[in-house]
Amino acid sequence: MNPLGVHALVFVGGWSERESSQAIEGAARCGYEWLEIPLLDPAKVDVETTVRQLERAGIKPITSLGLSFESDISSADPERVARGERLLQDALAKTRDLGAPMMTGVLYSALAKYRTAPTEAGRRSCVEVLAKLAAAAKNSGITLGLEPVNRYESNLVNTAAQALELIAEIGADNMVVHLDSYHMNIEDDPVGAIELCGDRLGYVHLNESHRGYLGTGTIDFASLFGALAKQNYRGAITFEAFSAGIGDPALNAELAVWRHVWSDAMDLARHAHQFMAAGYATAAHRTG
Ligand code: MN
Repeated sequence: MNPLGVHALVFVGGWSERESSQAIEGAARCGYEWLEIPLLDPAKVDVETTVRQLERAGIKPITSLGLSFESDISSADPERVARGERLLQDALAKTRDLGAPMMTGVLYSALAKYRTAPTEAGRRSCVEVLAKLAAAAKNSGITLGLEPVNRYESNLVNTAAQALELIAEIGADNMVVHLDSYHMNIEDDPVGAIELCGDRLGYVHLNESHRGYLGTGTIDFASLFGALAKQNYRGAITFEAFSAGIGDPALNAELAVWRHVWSDAMDLARHAHQFMAAGYATAAHRTG
C-alpha cells in the first residue's frame, strides 16, 4: 500500500501555531501518514513548532510551492528570476529544516494564467535556476518534484512529457514528475502520462474534476489506480481539494476557486482516505 497524504490547505489557510496544529492533527485523525505543507511564504513556517507538532502526531512532511509573476524564474526579467531563485532557496532551507524528503509544485514558473507563450530566454533561466536548486537539494538528500498544471495555471509545463523534457534539460537525478489527476484531466491522457513517466514518477496528487469529494466528479480513478499499481508506483499519493472560503484566499483567487464545493474538511479528508485506500487495494488485487 502506498503512503497516503493530504494537503494542509484542506484544513487551514495559514500556518500560525494553532493552524499548523489543526492541519497536522486533522491529517493524523483522518488516518494519513504524510502532510503536504505549503511554503508559498517560507518565513511564515516556524520550524521548531511545526516539527514538534509533526513528531507528536506521527505525521511526515512534504513541502510544496508555486511561484508568482514577481518571482517567476521563467521570466525574461533578471530581477524576477533572482527573486524567484531566492524564494526557492529559502523554501528549500525550510524543507531541509522540517526534515521533509521532497519539495514539489510549480517550481518552474508562476502559478498563474499567462497571456503569452513561454520564451526561449525564460526557459533557459528556469533551467539554470532549477539546476542550481537541484544541486543544493541533493546535498541535503532532498528530491524536487515538478508538477505539470493546466494551461490556466502556467504556460511552461502542462503535461507529463513537458515535465520530463524539462528534467532532462536540467540533467539532475534528484528530480521527479509530480502528476495531478485534476490537471491531467484537462491536458493529458492520465494513464498514458503515468506510463510515460515510469520510474520518474515521484509524487501523485489526487483531486476531483471540481476539486471536491473524490468519486463525485468526472475523474476515472479506477484507471489511475490501475496504472499506478501496474507500474508498481511506491511513492506517496496525496489528496488535494479546494473550496471557496477555505484555505489561502490569495491562492484560491489564483486557482479560480469560486464555489463552495465542500465545507466540512474532516469529513472530506476522511472520505478521501477511505476512497484512496479502497481504490488502490482493488487495483493492486486486480494487478496481482
Ligand atoms: Mn496538485
